[in-house]
Amino acid sequence: MPDSPPSLKNVAGFPDGEQLLTSLADHIPAMTAYYEVGTYQCRFANRAYAAYNGCTPQNIIGKTVREVIGDAAWQAIGPHVEKAQNGEVVEYTRETTLPDGSKRWIEVSLAPHFGTDGRQLGSFVLHLDITRRQDKERAMFESEERLAKFSEASTEGIYFHQDGVYTDVNPAMAAMLGYTREELIGRNALDFVAEDYRKIVSDYMAAQREDVYEAVAICRDGTRLPVELVAKTLHRNGEVYRLGIFRDIRERKAAEARINFLAYHDVLTGLPNRRLLLERLDSLLAMSRRHQNHLAVLFIDLDHFKTVNDSLGHHAGDLLLAEVAARIQGAVREVDVVARQGGDEFIVVLADLAQPELAASVAVKLLVQVAAPFDIDGHAVSVAPSIGISVFPRDGTTADDLIRHADSAMYLSKQSGRGQYQFYAPELSVRAYNDLSKEAALRDAVRHGNFELHYQPQIDVNGDRITGIEALVRWRRPDGVLVAPNDFIGFAEERGLIGAIGRWVLSEACRQNKAWQDAGLPKIPIAVNVSPVQFKTGNLVADVERVLRQTGLEGRYLEVELTEGALMSDSATVTGKFATLRNLGVKLSIDDFGTGYSSLAYLKRYPIDKLKIDRTFVRDIETDEDDVAIALAIVQMGRTLKLTVLAEGVENEAQLDMLRAQGCQEFQGFLLCKALPADEAGDLLRRYPHDDLAATQRMRAIRAR
Ligand code: C2E
Ligand code: MG
Ligand code: MG
Repeated sequence: MPDSPPSLKNVAGFPDGEQLLTSLADHIPAMTAYYEVGTYQCRFANRAYAAYNGCTPQNIIGKTVREVIGDAAWQAIGPHVEKAQNGEVVEYTRETTLPDGSKRWIEVSLAPHFGTDGRQLGSFVLHLDITRRQDKERAMFESEERLAKFSEASTEGIYFHQDGVYTDVNPAMAAMLGYTREELIGRNALDFVAEDYRKIVSDYMAAQREDVYEAVAICRDGTRLPVELVAKTLHRNGEVYRLGIFRDIRERKAAEARINFLAYHDVLTGLPNRRLLLERLDSLLAMSRRHQNHLAVLFIDLDHFKTVNDSLGHHAGDLLLAEVAARIQGAVREVDVVARQGGDEFIVVLADLAQPELAASVAVKLLVQVAAPFDIDGHAVSVAPSIGISVFPRDGTTADDLIRHADSAMYLSKQSGRGQYQFYAPELSVRAYNDLSKEAALRDAVRHGNFELHYQPQIDVNGDRITGIEALVRWRRPDGVLVAPNDFIGFAEERGLIGAIGRWVLSEACRQNKAWQDAGLPKIPIAVNVSPVQFKTGNLVADVERVLRQTGLEGRYLEVELTEGALMSDSATVTGKFATLRNLGVKLSIDDFGTGYSSLAYLKRYPIDKLKIDRTFVRDIETDEDDVAIALAIVQMGRTLKLTVLAEGVENEAQLDMLRAQGCQEFQGFLLCKALPADEAGDLLRRYPHDDLAATQRMRAIRAR
């Protein structure tokens, strides 16, 4: 067992003493030496130090610092050496030139050496070659400086962020967003991203993606700035950064939008071109199919356009086309599509049409508006359009078919005289023409009040007395023909004219009834028919209040006749309207009862006074058992609910007998008389006798008049 710890001295051949020191010093990757205090003479140097100063470890011994490093170096470092020889620790860095001419950076440490008595004996010198480290740092510094300069000069936004928080941004970036650098640094980058792009931007950050993408930034003033971004992940001083470049692509976007616009529009007029027309038409067709309504394609060609081009030049022609385009667009609704087909041809798509014939009114409007003279460069220029119309689904179900058929209808229209329109299906043209002229005529009648009321009395089943009188409208055409209500009321409802007609009827009926009363005739209610359209969309209650006030007729002498359809709307509204009419004393009766959606529920819900059994149940009551059953059911229902039941269209005694036997209380019909003009009705009211003749005889007497 050894009695002392193992020692290197025991390793065979291991150097000892001075030999060990020299060997050790020669193997460290540094230069080291020792200088004596006072004399400044070298007492030790390793091989590297000696060689560095052009000596050997042997011949350097005894030389002074100044002799070793030369005068020039001594000038530079003499003061450091003095300090070290005076007991201070000194460190400095300097660049030196090696004997072979190459430049090196060295870091020098000078450390004083003291003896056991505290006296300084010399100084240790240690040189570390830091050229490589220094080069690296310089490169780093230079590259940062370059980056800083570059990013200052760049017109593109450059930013650094760490976990989404800006650590630096360049001036261009700050300027683009409308902030200062200081305002941006420390803020979250996502604060400056448009809401609809936050997800994509944060996804890119999270995944550290390095490919180019587009987003929209929000500037200080709230404007949206389209940008292109690319970011790279950087590792600096052990931390992860993202360096991004941020480019304003507003111009590119605008150019793209422009290119896109040009691809789908006609440059001259700015209207959709054929390509866009087809796209839109397809989607409108899909919509029409879903809603099961009509759609019309109008093919418009300008007559004599070539003459304008030839006589006034192409510039004038272009101006004219642009003006025509504007007029066409101004004549149709927002939902309709106006496109230029090329040359002097335009296509209009009318979406969402209730009736195919309605396309004709638009065509007429276009014919009138486009035909009005244009002022082109000081010349009054007129063109007449020819229009062909095709209608979905009857004339075709695809965009191609509809356009083709509208085109061929346009040719037909040109042939039959210019400045006209023509439907692809010719019978539609006739109907549309009739409808159009009918509409114009009816509007005229509304304007001039060319209507008349005829009056049909209502009598109790025993013929004892007239219980009321119904006002029935007729339209007196300019040619003298009297048009029956069934031939124009429905049409008036469709074209929005029923409100005006209804108001005229209401006011005339009340005026007449008051006039009769003032003339001493029996005071009875006058029944006025109100269309469901008028009841639902008009302001019936206000109209009634106004008319009663203006005519002075008491409310209880007015009866409103509604059909069952009118009661089908929202019950709260119906209840409200009925309550107000009730308060005015106005009576309510249900007309044509049994033909609509008869429902006990609304008979109970609303304050109804009278049910009028429809004529169709009365007509065959003598022979048809079903009609007997229906009439009986209505009578019994009416009695249960304490309503008056009146039978319409009673033409003979047999019908009246049956109705009377069933318990029906009143009737109307040719058995007594047709609807009479006002003067005849007044006569009847005056003469209807109150003497002792049997009721039926009295009626016969009147009919025999
Ligand atoms: P309505 O209200 O049911 O009127 C009864 C219709 O039957 C009237 O026809 C009348 O002349 C006819 N009539 C009366 N007794 C007999 C008969 O014994 N036999 C036959 N075959 N017919 C008879 P009119 O005057 O042509 O009116 C037709 C419909 O037009 C009316 O049916 C009513 O729904 C509507 N109407 C009439 N005037 C107006 C009005 O001012 N406004 C509204 N909205 N509709 C009205
Ligand atoms: Mg009626
Ligand atoms: Mg009726």
